[in-house]
Amino acid sequence: MSDLTITLLAGGVGGAKAAEGLAASIYAANTQVIGNIADDEEFHGLWVSPDIDTLIYSLGNQIDRERGWGRKNESYRLLEELSLLGQDTWMTLGDLDLATHIYRTELRKQGVRASHIVQRLAKRYGASLPILLPTDDVVQTQVNTPSGWLSFQQYFVREQCKPEVLEVDYKGANIARATSEALFQIAKSDLIIIAPSNPIVSIGAILATPGIQQAIENSNAYVLAISPLIAGKTVKGPADKMLASMGLSTDSKGIYQGYSSFLDAMVIDEADRGDLPWLHDQGLDVLVTPTLMKTREDKCALLTRAVDFAQQRRKQRAA
Ligand code: GDP
Ligand code: CA
Repeated sequence: MSDLTITLLAGGVGGAKAAEGLAASIYAANTQVIGNIADDEEFHGLWVSPDIDTLIYSLGNQIDRERGWGRKNESYRLLEELSLLGQDTWMTLGDLDLATHIYRTELRKQGVRASHIVQRLAKRYGASLPILLPTDDVVQTQVNTPSGWLSFQQYFVREQCKPEVLEVDYKGANIARATSEALFQIAKSDLIIIAPSNPIVSIGAILATPGIQQAIENSNAYVLAISPLIAGKTVKGPADKMLASMGLSTDSKGIYQGYSSFLDAMVIDEADRGDLPWLHDQGLDVLVTPTLMKTREDKCALLTRAVDFAQQRRKQRAA
């Protein structure tokens, strides 16, 4: 067991893989996860928080492992019925999953803090790491496309990431207040790990909450990012397309550019070894290693290698 205080910044599927890796490692004891709430949206009158639920279900081993999201052993009777009633059902919400959304919505109506709702859900599903929110306020990512602005889920699920992304806006972020728990956790961290998540809509949305990025810049923590790209492509999802449309390169450089004000180290895949000299020129420590995580062992091994590397380099810098 280690007494290292670690914070993981995580989106959905890539974030949950990294969270599970830390949870299975010797570094679990003092690790907490800050998740992304900016993919949240209301469906059928219910508040749905996809990235947070992916974290909770993954860390509670309730996740559908094939898809990487949603509950295992899920059924869709309610959605089928809604479809027969003529409702839009492109957002796949299973019967078990809907219990989470009903519960969250009910507690929100009672005025319970979003962070506390997450704690209760995490307890119910046995999540193996604490999950913090960047803010209890509502922040929603919007995507501007040639045919106009879309909510994130309209872009991601309904339009299957096909439209070109012209611009991204984190609606509500300018007036959101960071949670004291997230700020405190960042401030006391020895190591901050940025999961291999979408740098724009997952990590970017967390950093958009006023005070969060500043807290990372001000902390004494060593900050390491795991690249979500392998051979310049995403494992899944639109991060590569989004980087390109925002004028950033679809390689380790593009990932680094969003994090340059605080990053100490990057973990890149063997397939991206060619990016190493450029990253070294930026003054970064770089670990080159296989980064594809399929099994629990892959996740634990990658996150253990990343933390071991960070600890070793952190000590060297201090010496
Ligand atoms: P989302 O919210 O569900 O879209 O998930 P995230 O933002 O957390 O993660 C999306 C990113 O995870 C994508 O850009 C993928 O390339 C990346 N990703 C998923 N699985 C892996 C993996 O096993 N290894 C690495 N390096 N990246 C991964
Ligand atoms: Ca997401």
